[in-house]
Amino acid sequence: MQVSFPSNDSGARHRCEARRFKNWVVFTCPQCPGFERRIDLETGAMHTRPGADPYVLHEGFYVPAGLENTGSLHN
Ligand SMILES: [Zn+2]
Repeated sequence: MQVSFPSNDSGARHRCEARRFKNWVVFTCPQCPGFERRIDLETGAMHTRPGADPYVLHEGFYVPAGLENTGSLHN
């Protein structure tokens, strides 16, 4: 799942770390203490808690567990 968070194009771009909590994916930024963005996988609802710099472009990448192993299984 590729998620981009467009904001002012100031040039700054941070890569977020994604963690899964139940049906939420929570993105946090190593460079922005306090920044948090979470997405409800069921509804697509997004909630953001801004970090110190609101103009930084944050992007995150999250691969749902299980989808890596969808290759064909032939015996
Ligand atoms: Zn950041």
